[in-house]
Amino acid sequence: MKQVHNFTAGPCILPQQAIDNAIEALKDFKGTGIPVISISHRTKEWESVMDECRSLWRELLNIPEDYEILFLGGGASMGFLYVAMNFLEGKAGYLETGVWAKKALKEAKGLGNAYAVASSAETVFNYIPKGYEIPSDLDYFHITTNNTIYGTEIHEDIDCPVPLIADMSSDILSRPVDVTKYAMIYGGAQKNVGPAGVAFFIVKKDLLGKVSRYIPTMLDLRSHIDGQSMYNTPPVFSIFVMNETLKWLKGIGGVEAIQKVNKEKAELLYGEIDRNTLFRGTAAVEDRSLMNVCFVMAEGYENLQDEFMAFAKAKGMAGIKGHRSVGGFRASIYNACPIESVQALVDCMKEFEELHK
Ligand SMILES: *Cc1c(COP(=O)(O)O)cnc(C)c1O
Repeated sequence: MKQVHNFTAGPCILPQQAIDNAIEALKDFKGTGIPVISISHRTKEWESVMDECRSLWRELLNIPEDYEILFLGGGASMGFLYVAMNFLEGKAGYLETGVWAKKALKEAKGLGNAYAVASSAETVFNYIPKGYEIPSDLDYFHITTNNTIYGTEIHEDIDCPVPLIADMSSDILSRPVDVTKYAMIYGGAQKNVGPAGVAFFIVKKDLLGKVSRYIPTMLDLRSHIDGQSMYNTPPVFSIFVMNETLKWLKGIGGVEAIQKVNKEKAELLYGEIDRNTLFRGTAAVEDRSLMNVCFVMAEGYENLQDEFMAFAKAKGMAGIKGHRSVGGFRASIYNACPIESVQALVDCMKEFEELHK
């Protein structure tokens, strides 16, 4: 198979171990003689995967017992609607740090009173707003911890006077998180924990049931809690691969261990971006994401963009094109991206600089 370094933003690189085990399970799921995608989700073999996956989440993120863990279809984008449907009664505040945050806010606006408490829209979201005050009369405050498109990240669990809800699609399980600071954490799996098709919800159960609106059954998180994520047929294959990804993460030492590696990888790449005269980073230095590294050609070298893209591609770099709304380059270096790939990209940038000295 062709050797590539995969920096795609999502769906993205997953641990090879998870993929190999998924291939095996497609042939024979747990010795049943049936492929994992052809077995009933009401069998004990399948239920054992659900149980294992929930307990791995609990263990890896240290999730307290009063939080429920759900695996649902619809992606993070459906999550935007789940948030508003299940938590918005009076007023909600959002931290507007990018397109995903805006989309989350849009769903809440559609159902009631919601607004951006602070925003970095005026500089195309290249930083995380700070020094804003969170009003104490909000039903909840919503943040996007990692802004996949712009390469900015909220590195700490913030203090919040109202229930805090976080879209952690693209940095979940990249670092330890104090779950008790959140009313709900959710996201699509396809950036750091599995393939597309499943979203995760970690929700403090006693905060549900406080809104007076009618919530359609499928949009009511309580239906899914009652059904243990199997109110309807769950996305079995996506959950299977997510479970294998969590097993891999546990095997290499969990979130503390991966955080160390993630820091190393990010330092290596940002170090090169800052050193190399041909490139510059686009995100505010203190808010730089450890997951999505965004950069462009330095001033005076803009004309080399296409050439670098072709050069990098020829060296096996895949998926480094920046999001269409910001241009330039973006290297997504999620948990499963090995440091060797980051080193290969750095070497490629160095070589390109040599060529243009
Ligand atoms: C990708 C992404 C989404 C959208 O996820 P879908 O599962 O495609 O709906 C939402 N929020 C963030 C931060 C993302 O990176």
